[in-house]
Amino acid sequence: MPGGMADFMTKQYDLAVVGGGVLGLAHAITAARRGYSVVLIERERHANGASIRNFGFITVTGQERGHSWSLARRTRDVWADIAPEAKIPIEHRGLYLSARSPEAIAVIEAFLQTEMGEGCRLLSPGEFRDETHGLGGDDLHGALYSPHEIRMESRDAIPLLARWAQETLGITMLTETVAFSSLPPRIETSRGAVEARHVVVCPGDDFSTLWPDRIASYNLRRCRLSMLRLADPGFRLPGALMSDLSLTRYTGYAALPEASVLKAKLLAEQPRHYDNGVHLIVAQGADGSLIVGDSHHYDDLPGPFAPASAEHDILDEYVRAFGRAAPAVLERWVGTYASASDRTYLVDTPTDDVRLVIVTGGTGASTSFGIAEEVLNSLMGDA
Ligand SMILES: Cc1cc2nc3c(=O)[nH]c(=O)nc-3n(C[C@H](O)[C@H](O)[C@H](O)COP(=O)(O)OP(=O)(O)OC[C@H]3O[C@@H](n4cnc5c(N)ncnc54)[C@H](O)[C@@H]3O)c2cc1C
Repeated sequence: MPGGMADFMTKQYDLAVVGGGVLGLAHAITAARRGYSVVLIERERHANGASIRNFGFITVTGQERGHSWSLARRTRDVWADIAPEAKIPIEHRGLYLSARSPEAIAVIEAFLQTEMGEGCRLLSPGEFRDETHGLGGDDLHGALYSPHEIRMESRDAIPLLARWAQETLGITMLTETVAFSSLPPRIETSRGAVEARHVVVCPGDDFSTLWPDRIASYNLRRCRLSMLRLADPGFRLPGALMSDLSLTRYTGYAALPEASVLKAKLLAEQPRHYDNGVHLIVAQGADGSLIVGDSHHYDDLPGPFAPASAEHDILDEYVRAFGRAAPAVLERWVGTYASASDRTYLVDTPTDDVRLVIVTGGTGASTSFGIAEEVLNSLMGDA
C-alpha cells in the first residue's frame, strides 16, 4: 500500500521503522502518537511472521520478575487503550492456570506471595470447575487466576493495527518493500531511497539483512513453535487457560525455588513434553474455535518440519489438564522467533540515530509497547 512514490521520496521523516511486525508497529505508533512523522518499511504486504502466528495473548502474570513484568503491564495498558480505537476486539480477559499436584500448588502459593501476585488468587478445584464449565481431571488440585491478561486474534489484529496506524495516525506504510540499509539520513529500499532523521530496525528473526555482524555478537538462535486450531468445544471459556508445565517454563514462576521440585516431578512423568518444549496455552476465538499450543525447538535454521510427537504432546497435556478429549484439529502451523538464553530483548545502538531492537524471549506481543517507549525516549531524547 505505498502511499504514492512521490510522497515518501520527497519527504524527510522524523523516524523510519524497518519491520511491520508487532514490535515495529509499536515503535511506529508510539512515535506517531508523540507527534513525529513516521514511515514504516515492511517486506511483505502485511506482517506474516511471528506477530500473526502467535496466541495474541498479552501475558503479564508469568513474565520474568522485574523489568519484563513491568514492560508487560505497560504494554497491556497500551493495548487496552488502542484496541477499541483500532477496532480490534478483545476476545479474552484473564488467565486460569490449572494445577494437578501439591507441588504445582506450592509454586502458585509462592508466586502469590510476591509482588507479581497482586490481584491474582488461588482457586479451589470447585471454583475452577465452576468458572470453566467443569474442566479439570480427577487430579485437579486448584488453579491460579490472574485478571491481568487480554487476548486478541493476532491474524486479524495486526492488519487492523497497521490500517489504523496508516489511516488514523498518518504513518506512511511502505509494504512489499525491503530495506537494504538503515543509516540516516538516507535509507535504501527496494522502492528507492527514504529520508529519515532516525531509524529503528525491528527485523524479528531476520538476522542477515541489516546489521548482521552486530546481531551475530548476541549469539541468537531461532525457536520454532507448533500451533493448532481446534474445533469449537461447545462452551465459552472465561479466559485463556494454561496448566502445570507452564509453571516450569514461564520465568515469573519457574525462577521461584518451589518450581525446581515441580520440574523434577514433571520431568520424570512427562520427559518427552520437555524434549519437545511443550506447555499448554488455550485461547478461544470469537467463532468458538480454540488456539492451542505450543512446542519449542531451537536451532540456527529451524526447518519447516515439525515432529508429530510435539502435536501429540500438546494434545496430551490438554487431556491431562482438562479431563476432556481434545476437539478435532482444524489447522496446524509453525512460527519462529529470535531467541537468546541471557535476555528477553535487546536494544543495540549501531549509531546515535539508529536502534536495532529484537525481542528474544518469545513475548513480543506482551512487551512491545513498553519497549518502544523506552527506545524512543533514548533515541528521540523524549522525556
Ligand atoms: C507460535 C508463536 C506463539 C507466540 N505466542 C505469543 C504470545 O501469545 N504472546 C506474546 O507476547 N508473544 C508470543 N509470541 C512471540 C511474539 O509473536 C514475537 O515476540 C513477536 O511477534 C516479535 O515481533 P517482531 O515484530 O519483532 O517480529 P516479526 O513478527 O517477525 O516481524 C518482523 C518483520 O520485519 C520484517 N523485516 C525484517 N527485515 C526487513 C527488512 N530488511 N526490510 C523490510 N522488512 C523487514 C519481516 O518481514 C517481518 O514482518 C509467539 C510467537 C510464536 C511464533
